[in-house]
Amino acid sequence: MPEICLLGTGGMLPLKNRYLTSLYAEYNGKAILIDCGEGTQVAVAEHGLKMSRIETILITHSHADHVTGLPGLLLSIGNCSRTEPLDIYMPESAEKTVRSLMAVCGKLPYEVKIHVLPDRSPTAFTADRIDPMLMISTIPLSHSVECIGYKLTLSRKPVFEPEKAKELNIPVNYWKKLHSGESVTLDDGRKIFSSDVTGKQRPPVVVTYTTDSLSLDSIADFSSGADLMICEGMYGDMEKKQSMNEKGHMLMQDACRLAEKAQAKRLWLTHYSPAETDPCIYNEELSAIFGNVVISHDGEKITL
Ligand SMILES: [Zn+2]
Ligand SMILES: [Zn+2]
Repeated sequence: MPEICLLGTGGMLPLKNRYLTSLYAEYNGKAILIDCGEGTQVAVAEHGLKMSRIETILITHSHADHVTGLPGLLLSIGNCSRTEPLDIYMPESAEKTVRSLMAVCGKLPYEVKIHVLPDRSPTAFTADRIDPMLMISTIPLSHSVECIGYKLTLSRKPVFEPEKAKELNIPVNYWKKLHSGESVTLDDGRKIFSSDVTGKQRPPVVVTYTTDSLSLDSIADFSSGADLMICEGMYGDMEKKQSMNEKGHMLMQDACRLAEKAQAKRLWLTHYSPAETDPCIYNEELSAIFGNVVISHDGEKITL
């Protein structure tokens, strides 16, 4: 099952007790990082996670609080003796910024593969470097520069039922193949199908990450039924609504309304303004809008 850690919860500037918004999602010993602002590599270490496990980095947009940690992180990954290629995905509008930042890295001991995604149209691809059953899809957001949100969808194999395999006298060395969906022909000539030894299909695990953006109905659609919806909530102070919207951000209350509309299983808020020193003061008000809201703090973790 994927393990999720919100490395930081800050927007704009890192604070001494709050790193910038970034997500670390690990599955089977391999990790995806979403966004990489200043200090992200320190946050990875501080939360007891392994930089060397990062196989894929997803960038939402070109603003400093989401990308300026990249050179340091890539150099540190090089120090972990990595030689395998690493993938970085980003909207096309962020490519120039990312390539400029990478210039200061000099020659890395591994290849960085840059993948450019459309700014304004949704797309989807398989995270082959992590697991072929993990799909990554995108949504265009509405911010002061082009920005995209990401969804991680991990399909799950049906449960393997060893009693059925034993009943059919299937040798143990065939079990893994059958569980992965393949059929096998036994030495006695019998053909066994995966469905003969597995239970019913299980729904996929879905995690969405949408920051920075105005509140959009399309975010609710994108996050529909998500096991974990992670969304920006720049301010809880309603008086900031107009100025925030002008800069392409939303309030914590907006994010809660979107989660309610999406019928998400839980919402983690993130990307707080440095002026919001204690976002928990809004807990009661936010919980009244969406009961399963978590006013996340750095290092918020869950296994899904
Ligand atoms: Zn930001
Ligand atoms: Zn931004």
